[in-house]
Amino acid sequence: MNNFLDLCRAAIGAPYVITNEADMVPYLTDWRRRFTGRAQAILRPGSAEEVAALVKLCSEARVPVVPQGGNTGLVLGSVPDDSGREVVLSLGRMNRIRAVDVINNTMTVDAGCILAQIQNAAAEAGRLFPLSLGAEGSCTIGGNLSTNAGGTGVLRYGNTRELCLGLEVVTPQGEIWNGLRGLRKDNTGYDLRDLFIGAEGTLGIITGAVIKLFPQPKAQLTALAAMQTTDNALALLTLAQQRCGATLTGFELMSQFCLELVAKHYPQMQLPFPQPYPQYVLLELSDSESEEHAMETLESLITSALEEDVIQDAVVAGSIAQSRALWDLREHITLAQADEGKNIKHDVSVPISRIRDFIRETDAALAEQFPGIRMVTFGHLGDGNLHYNVSPPVGVPADEFINRQHEVNQVVHDSVNSYNGSISAEHGLGALKREEVKQYKSDVEMRLMRTIKQALDPLQLMNPGKVL
Ligand SMILES: Cc1cc2nc3c(=O)[nH]c(=O)nc-3n(C[C@H](O)[C@H](O)[C@H](O)COP(=O)(O)OP(=O)(O)OC[C@H]3O[C@@H](n4cnc5c(N)ncnc54)[C@H](O)[C@@H]3O)c2cc1C
Repeated sequence: MNNFLDLCRAAIGAPYVITNEADMVPYLTDWRRRFTGRAQAILRPGSAEEVAALVKLCSEARVPVVPQGGNTGLVLGSVPDDSGREVVLSLGRMNRIRAVDVINNTMTVDAGCILAQIQNAAAEAGRLFPLSLGAEGSCTIGGNLSTNAGGTGVLRYGNTRELCLGLEVVTPQGEIWNGLRGLRKDNTGYDLRDLFIGAEGTLGIITGAVIKLFPQPKAQLTALAAMQTTDNALALLTLAQQRCGATLTGFELMSQFCLELVAKHYPQMQLPFPQPYPQYVLLELSDSESEEHAMETLESLITSALEEDVIQDAVVAGSIAQSRALWDLREHITLAQADEGKNIKHDVSVPISRIRDFIRETDAALAEQFPGIRMVTFGHLGDGNLHYNVSPPVGVPADEFINRQHEVNQVVHDSVNSYNGSISAEHGLGALKREEVKQYKSDVEMRLMRTIKQALDPLQLMNPGKVL
């Protein structure tokens, strides 16, 4: 008889303590299927009080806890190690929209709410919740907050951190901190909320949040512009920000090679231009006045960009279907690259003004050390965030190339560091990058992080082996 698990069953009900091997598998394997851990059990509490009761039991029995939302994280942060000692605490049953306040423009939600569910609830209330990312059908707001997720709307609305006003958190000791305040101003001491956001479950468990809502735009327009260089793309960004201000909600860079891969693996998706260009930018405008106003702004921007020789060609989507088709090109790059074979991914950011030099210098350094490699460079240019991915040279077996991942990462991340950038712009550190990050953060920064961890979680039971 396992006393600890019996106490868990008594706390939340036996059906919600999963110990059957087959039923545990989906919670133990990461989204990219690179790693399967082991766990004593999967615990599925239904309320903050139940989370608190479980965390207390874990603290008393010294059982490490791995919080899990939708398990869509990309850095091995949401799955247990292979010791079999840990429990996975899944927030999936906590999926209630607790309250909507249309005057305060806020929504209070359980941490296990799926992102798409929140977007829909906001739309039903005539509002917009602007966080949007590829995994929105299965990731949870608790996971979005814990990874400070980015996505496609950061340029206008910021990361998840900027979209959150208050949190409810279960501490590593099993207490509930109710910080569910819908305040835009509150200078009453240390900002505990910001400490838990982006902590990847290493400081406590987020059980609820107050998130910001925005007016729904009257019109959304999408355009694809073709150009010669990333310098042109940056010039277009400056022009678009001057002309469109807060209306500019998306600015995504894609190289010709990215779109060649999409056309190769998804022949039904073709580029809307008669000839290829080295670089493309997908622009999105969200207008609070009208469709006509949005079209006027976009057309005037494109005309100026063509006249100033910043871009060579552009198409504006004339319908929702055409807009979807342009976004599909962007969203199929990752899939097309996977269809092409295994590759090495980087999720980096550098100051926007230095992107051109970063790409030029890093491309050259990689080409010298790994002749023939194929760069699949795309991303949220407006946020300085690139998916700087590397596919093996034609004819080189993927596994042989992947074996050199460490060397490739070293070149890319050293270069990122020399530009004062970040080796993880969106996805966090998890277990995947926690060793590597030590090369790039100062001793002072690492010591401060460890001090915070030690103060909040002295028994080191919250998601051990992740981040630090
Ligand atoms: C197709 C696809 C596209 C993606 N696109 C983007 C993108 O554009 N931008 C981006 O930033 N990310 C992106 N991601 C990564 C991922 O979706 C995000 O990191 C997401 O925010 C994770 O949410 P989740 O609920 O799945 O969290 P999980 O994967 O379950 O967990 C992620 C981390 O948060 C911790 N955690 C989860 N819930 C809680 C909680 N309630 N309290 C405390 N800790 C918790 C976990 O322990 C883990 O460390 C993408 C992933 C996929 C698969």
